[in-house]
Amino acid sequence: MPRAYNFCAGPATLPEEVLREAQSELLDWQGTGMSVMEISHRSSAFVAVARQAEADLRELLAIPEHYKVLFLQGGAYGQFSMVPLNLLGGKGKADYLDTGLWSQKAIAEARRYGQVNVAASGRDAGYTTIPEPAEWHLDPDAAYLHYTPNETIGGLEFSYIPASGEVPLVADMSSTILSRPVAVSRYGLIYAGAQKNIGPSGLVVVIVREDLLERASPITPSAFSYALQAEHGSMLNTPPTFAWYLAGLVFRWLKRQGGLAAMAERNRRKAELLYSAIDGSGGFYRNPIDPRYRSWMNVPFTLPNETLEQRFLAEAEAAGLKNLAGHRSVGGLRASLYNAMPEAGVRALVEFMADFARRQ
Ligand code: PMP
Repeated sequence: MPRAYNFCAGPATLPEEVLREAQSELLDWQGTGMSVMEISHRSSAFVAVARQAEADLRELLAIPEHYKVLFLQGGAYGQFSMVPLNLLGGKGKADYLDTGLWSQKAIAEARRYGQVNVAASGRDAGYTTIPEPAEWHLDPDAAYLHYTPNETIGGLEFSYIPASGEVPLVADMSSTILSRPVAVSRYGLIYAGAQKNIGPSGLVVVIVREDLLERASPITPSAFSYALQAEHGSMLNTPPTFAWYLAGLVFRWLKRQGGLAAMAERNRRKAELLYSAIDGSGGFYRNPIDPRYRSWMNVPFTLPNETLEQRFLAEAEAAGLKNLAGHRSVGGLRASLYNAMPEAGVRALVEFMADFARRQ
């Protein structure tokens, strides 16, 4: 069976080249007669894989020296707790921007640990746009400002980095990391669940400025302490070794593609192709997001009614265009166009969309 075009929001499609590479060495990794999953994380062979993955990620994102890169577990959801536990410090309060479902979940978790100031919310606009920065109520004494650069469910993406002054900026980059270059030095901390643009689920990557490592609450579990994990090279306990190895293969693949500037160009073209198809459909397909903040990675859209949406999904599935249903909380349809989705997949989708609209 040929590879399907998989538009799932996560766990998401991975580069075919990477999957073949992993397959080819699954049973006998580097002539050891064992798979990489079956060796100690403390063996020199695995430590070399881990360090190379970190070096490649540092190169791709041009991460400055004074940032630590951690490979942890607990997903991005775990970071909703780890961030306040580690960063609230003596201040005990933080600012959050509420731009959709994932920021709301981050806010709900942070409230368990300290005082949360929702500095701005897109709620009144149905989360279809981002409130203007002039209207934000930022607290200059906040421990940090948290935001979600790309709302995976809403398909709403910041086109700029929020200005937080001296307050460290914290970003949940789960669904946008590695889709384009990013100025890491503008951030105090970046985290991202792996299962979209990095690798398989089970791994979360954290990039944290060193001076923020000393603020953890004394009740922070050791496994969830940035400082302890940094001190132990993310091996305080057993890390998700296979996910880490596979992430390393993805980083190498990204370098072969020309790095993040090349990915940005490709991702921009893919998104433009799909949004043009939606906007040019005479209202048959609709995307509700303010055009300034349309996501390159997750494109939600609706059809005139649910019956047509169900028919669309069934026919798309049969045509090898998989996982186009919207998130269960919002319905409709959604196409995720992460790095590993080839342009040919997006072209196949827009051709299918045009044909489907014509036939109705
Ligand atoms: N934040 C964002 C922006 C996400 O898209 C997701 C998962 N879709 C999460 C957090 C939660 O991630 P995880 O399931 O890895 O905990």
